[in-house]
Amino acid sequence: MFNIETHIKAGSVQEAISLLMENPNARLIAGGTDVLIKLREGKPAFRHLVDIHGLAELNGIEKLPDNTLVIGSGTTFTQAIESDIIQTHIPILTDAAGSVGGPQIRNVATIGGNICNGVTSADSASPLFSLNALLSLQGPDGTRHLPIADFYKGPGRVDLGPGEILTAIRIRPEDYEQAFGYYYKYAMRNAMDIATIGCAVCLKTSGGTLTDYRLAFGVAGPVPIRCREAEKAVKGHPLTPALLEKIAATVVRDVNPRTSWRASKEFRLNIITELSKRATKKALTRAGEELS
Ligand SMILES: Cc1cc2nc3c(=O)[nH]c(=O)nc-3n(C[C@H](O)[C@H](O)[C@H](O)COP(=O)(O)OP(=O)(O)OC[C@H]3O[C@@H](n4cnc5c(N)ncnc54)[C@H](O)[C@@H]3O)c2cc1C
Repeated sequence: MFNIETHIKAGSVQEAISLLMENPNARLIAGGTDVLIKLREGKPAFRHLVDIHGLAELNGIEKLPDNTLVIGSGTTFTQAIESDIIQTHIPILTDAAGSVGGPQIRNVATIGGNICNGVTSADSASPLFSLNALLSLQGPDGTRHLPIADFYKGPGRVDLGPGEILTAIRIRPEDYEQAFGYYYKYAMRNAMDIATIGCAVCLKTSGGTLTDYRLAFGVAGPVPIRCREAEKAVKGHPLTPALLEKIAATVVRDVNPRTSWRASKEFRLNIITELSKRATKKALTRAGEELS
């Protein structure tokens, strides 16, 4: 059923890099929930596999002494949901992880695979955009750290060089401390459905104003995006109901959704303006703020 020609289990990240360099046609498999679908569809790209599933080096969620949060790329969505560190510091990722597929998928699907498949609907992507996440990419020449916003090159295309592996996702303290977030997924069904639109908000408030505002969307363009116009328009805005209207009015300048069998462009635009308001309101509630 699966036309796999070679399948090699790597014993370490370094070995996986060497295996990828030795066989330029080989592709990584982690949880396999995307790769196995592609193989089933007969896609030739995944016939040679380097397996990193369960590698200890890629597992684990930790808080470093400088308060940076580090999430191993091999972390499954179930592990993310159950993590005290994520629940306490970045519950926006708990929202997102809980919205992925069903329990069986969440038990094997990894956050690294979700980012590296380059898909705009990936539920972890827009929350990580809103957290200014940095990706640690290890390859034959060492490790580099890239902002997630620079990782996406186009639909299904990401900035991974030959032999490179996403090893971890890092969230810096200035991007999550005193910040409150919320992820809103709109899908046609409540479970086992990919997002028609995914909306992530991360914000900070002080003295009755919005001091930091980061808004990101999935499926509002060919790749996940940040909404810089809307963000600029409301930074420093007082916490009044007019804030939500301003966000809804400006966000349409940032996005470029398309019509597909799932939803029309017009419907998506409608959802985008509505979700930007709802997610902002939910994040404000988490911040202990009310609009008045
Ligand atoms: C029934 C079903 C429901 C689903 N529902 C959702 C949903 O609601 N939301 C959602 O976002 N997704 C959903 N998905 C898609 C999928 O489960 C996720 O994208 C998942 O996170 C992929 O992770 P994985 O470990 O299975 O990746 P894999 O399939 O192993 O790999 C995916 C891609 O990433 C590459 N890759 C994997 N790990 C790395 C790494 N560390 N470094 C570099 N490249 C890497 C692989 O080479 C491959 O190209 C669903 C899939 C199925 C089958």
